Amino acid sequence: VPPVQASPGVRDVLRRVIVLQAGLLVVVALLATVAVLSYRRAESDARRTGDVLVQLEALRAEVLSAETGFRGFLLTGQDAFLEPYQRALPRLEQREAAVRKQLDGPERQILDALRSNLGEWREQFAEVVLGDLGTGHREAALHLVTSGAGKIRIDRVRAYVDDLEARAERRLEDRRDTAQQRAELGLLLAVVALVALVVTVYLGRRRLQRSVGDPLRSLAMMADRLAEGDLGTRSTARGVAEVERVALAFNEMATATESTVRELRAVDRIKSEFVSVVSHELRTPLTSIRGSLGLLASGAMGQLPPEAAEMLRIAVSNTDRLVRLINDILDLERIEAGREALEIRPVSVAQVLADAASVVGGAAEDGGVRLDVEPVEATVQADADRLVQAVTNLAGNAIKFSDRGDRVVLRGVVEGGEVLLQVVDEGRGIPPEKLEAVFERFQQVDGSDAREKGGTGLGLAITRSIVERHGGRVEVESALGLGSTFSLVLPLAPGTRDRRIAGGRVGSELVVVVEDDLDLREVVGATLGRHGLDIANAATAEEAVALCQERDPQLLVLDVKLASGSAYDVVRMLRQDDRLRNLPTVVYTVVDLGLRAQEALRLGETVFVTKGAANEDGLEQAVLRLLGRDGQAEAGVTSR
Ligand code: ADP
Repeated sequence: VPPVQASPGVRDVLRRVIVLQAGLLVVVALLATVAVLSYRRAESDARRTGDVLVQLEALRAEVLSAETGFRGFLLTGQDAFLEPYQRALPRLEQREAAVRKQLDGPERQILDALRSNLGEWREQFAEVVLGDLGTGHREAALHLVTSGAGKIRIDRVRAYVDDLEARAERRLEDRRDTAQQRAELGLLLAVVALVALVVTVYLGRRRLQRSVGDPLRSLAMMADRLAEGDLGTRSTARGVAEVERVALAFNEMATATESTVRELRAVDRIKSEFVSVVSHELRTPLTSIRGSLGLLASGAMGQLPPEAAEMLRIAVSNTDRLVRLINDILDLERIEAGREALEIRPVSVAQVLADAASVVGGAAEDGGVRLDVEPVEATVQADADRLVQAVTNLAGNAIKFSDRGDRVVLRGVVEGGEVLLQVVDEGRGIPPEKLEAVFERFQQVDGSDAREKGGTGLGLAITRSIVERHGGRVEVESALGLGSTFSLVLPLAPGTRDRRIAGGRVGSELVVVVEDDLDLREVVGATLGRHGLDIANAATAEEAVALCQERDPQLLVLDVKLASGSAYDVVRMLRQDDRLRNLPTVVYTVVDLGLRAQEALRLGETVFVTKGAANEDGLEQAVLRLLGRDGQAEAGVTSR
């Protein structure tokens, strides 16, 4: 990991992203404001220009009425015609003043010219003509009129008004164009800024993803790998400073753990070698001690007095125990160190059970314990000798901790894809709080076990090591005073799934229980399990059919109502299977079934049991009857 300070922290990255986005927002807001303001200015300019136009129109109207009035009076000589002329004169002044206020520059000069021409028309023409007429100089008046001096001026006035109007109109158009352009420009800028904002939001997100999200995910993956025991993994995550610091810490942690593990392994190896050397060194002298004692005890060196013989017996038995202990220590050490390669090949479970039974047969006889084997035809991938050793350890314990007359069963059970090698006894049992501990080295439930039963406290540890090296596990169930069941659980070798023993069935019989109520299922399972029956459960019609086809059971226990599908579906589908259409079946229901319903639910020999009406005994008896085990229902449980 490169120097930490090289990368900015999360806070810096966030700050940059936020500053950029806030800045863009401000720019958008400013641009929008400027656009709106300039649009409004152009708008109000346009409005004012519009006003000027209106006033110019009014001015033109007044010019017209002054001129028309004056002309009418000239033609008719009637005072009534003069009135509009007189009324128009002050108004002309007002209009001109109003327009003047809104003009400047060259237009103001045009207005000045207009005003002076208007003044001249009035003072040097109209008023003079009127004066001449009033004083009876009609000739002079007519002469002035026909000279065209008035016309020239008033035409000019009109031309100025036209000019001003044209200019105002042009300006109006200009302003409107400008307003529109401003509005469009403002809109365009706002859109551009918005797009930029969106882009920065996206870029910010991507930046955060790259500098925080991605490296965190890669760290999480590394943590997973570490947790899985891959201590060689290192993180190369680059991103914000915090992430890189975590990555650095992770790497240091992994390095530290790796070297600790290496040291521990070294220590472990030294310890194992030490144990091994010491044990081997002990073995040689022990062998000669045992040999000498054996010779003495045999009387080969002369008859011994009874007290001496008793002392010798104690010495021999303790020497034997010491030899066993050393052998066990060596075994455990070898298995756990994995130094001894397992010879894995397909092994028959039935053979393993038989071999183990023959090893402990003598001990069972000595202890007055009945030893039964209930094999199953199944194959596991295993080292046969080691597996026999594991079962033998369990069987030896079972016999050791049973009383005279008790029974010990070595049983094989196939369950799902697994094989259970079970050792069942009716002995003293193990207290629940010790169930874990007995698998540890030198752990015994009773401190006197080692002495009295000759144990070493290593048997279960060895058994567990063996099974775990085979990829299996050990399970134990026990009840104080009632007995224990130890199970070695191993994966079933592929391809051996349905090779059950044909003809004279030796394994326990398989009952498929189809029940969707979990509590009831448990009760039924426990009830039938007491008879050593192998139970497989299904909750739906499809599951039930698949299970039957796969496991080929001896009996089906069928609840009518199921979570998905019903007993009718199960029966209909099983009837299509040659192997299963005659399967003995116990149907149990909440209500008594009519004849038609019973017919639809019949496979092989079928017994109908009504829940509630019959108690669990009813079901139990029906099952045993169909399995041809009638006698056992009355006798209670097979072996207890
Ligand atoms: P040991 O050589 O003492 O039998 P194990 O590791 O085989 O050593 O067993 C450890 C202890 O577990 C035994 O001493 C005993 O107390 C208890 N134990 C093992 N198997 C049984 C059993 N089948 N019934 C009762 N107790 C048992």
